[in-house]
Amino acid sequence: MTYHVTLIPGDGTGPELVEATRRVLEATGVSFDWDMQEAGADVMDKYGTPLPEAVLDSIRKNRVGLKGPITTPVGTGFRSVNVAIRKALDLYTNLRPAKYMQGVRSRYDDIDVVIVRENTEGLYAGIEHDVIPGEAAETIRIITRKCSERVVRFAFEYARDNNRRKVTAVHKANILKATDGLFLSVAREVAQDYPDVEFEDRIVDNMCMQLVQRPTEYDVLVTPNLYGDIVSDLCSGLVGGLGVAPGANIGDDIAVFEPVHGSAPKYAGQNKVNPTATILSGVLMLRYLGEREAADRARNAIAAVIAEGKSVTYDMKPTRDDPTVVGTKEMADAIIAAMNSA
Ligand code: NAD
Repeated sequence: MTYHVTLIPGDGTGPELVEATRRVLEATGVSFDWDMQEAGADVMDKYGTPLPEAVLDSIRKNRVGLKGPITTPVGTGFRSVNVAIRKALDLYTNLRPAKYMQGVRSRYDDIDVVIVRENTEGLYAGIEHDVIPGEAAETIRIITRKCSERVVRFAFEYARDNNRRKVTAVHKANILKATDGLFLSVAREVAQDYPDVEFEDRIVDNMCMQLVQRPTEYDVLVTPNLYGDIVSDLCSGLVGGLGVAPGANIGDDIAVFEPVHGSAPKYAGQNKVNPTATILSGVLMLRYLGEREAADRARNAIAAVIAEGKSVTYDMKPTRDDPTVVGTKEMADAIIAAMNSA
């Protein structure tokens, strides 16, 4: 069978990362019909918007997308295309696994944490305005029972399906008593339906400290939007950095896969950055499509290349100016070669 997938190269380093990923996914033998769609800063002039409606239509039609990162101007300019896609398609869960692979530079060799982040509300609703321009500004943070419940339920279902032992709800309900208080009380209610999965909660600042000191004590974390974004970057740092951190945006029957990292624009077009995070996002997509065997082969090949440590990008070498670094394309070549020789 052939899978019809919307392919969004994105901008900055996105196109080269997505191209590397496309080649690895095709090398698994799974058949894809890619529907290439342009979005991001580079298409503003052409379409007058960084997110043409055709992109959303394509994902709605195919139900599955693979996406490179897209730049969001800081402070001014257009709003995040990434957030807009998640909201428009109601992709309410942002799944971000952080798992140690032998060969990455890390203080710990047994981290296996999965962040389940609420993806459609909270501070990312972006409801904000100037109260007095230049003096005061206000943002509205909405937390609802509906959005909290469905993401917490996702976390517990994920824990069950993947033989995970524990779900930890991350919040700031001591200070944000109404909003995070609601999130926490919904999490406690949902936990009652899953007596086979341990449940606990942590205040987000303490959570960050605990993750740095004792990350192996944690398993599945479920969080409101902003905390999940921050905590998942922290976890990426614990397992080798943003270059190896995959992600998925999942709704009831649509999913878009993308790395945790951004467009790293200073490296755009240099064939320099690590394709692992985007390729692992593609591996998550293979699992979502039910292609478990292909997913395992691709993941094993990535693991083998990283464990060997030869054909890896600058961020995975002991020093950044290591003369043996390879580029994005060459690392993908090595992963394909490892898959073919397995
Ligand atoms: P970034 O993740 O793009 O890069 C931060 C740093 O992480 C880089 O300078 C680089 O040192 C490292 N890095 C990132 N990806 C890497 C890779 N594949 N290999 C090796 N090193 C890598 O974060 P930023 O600089 O804060 O953001 C740049 C732009 O990306 C911003 O416009 C931001 O809004 C956007 N962004 C997009 C997404 C998305 O598309 N989902 C996510 C986060 C940020």
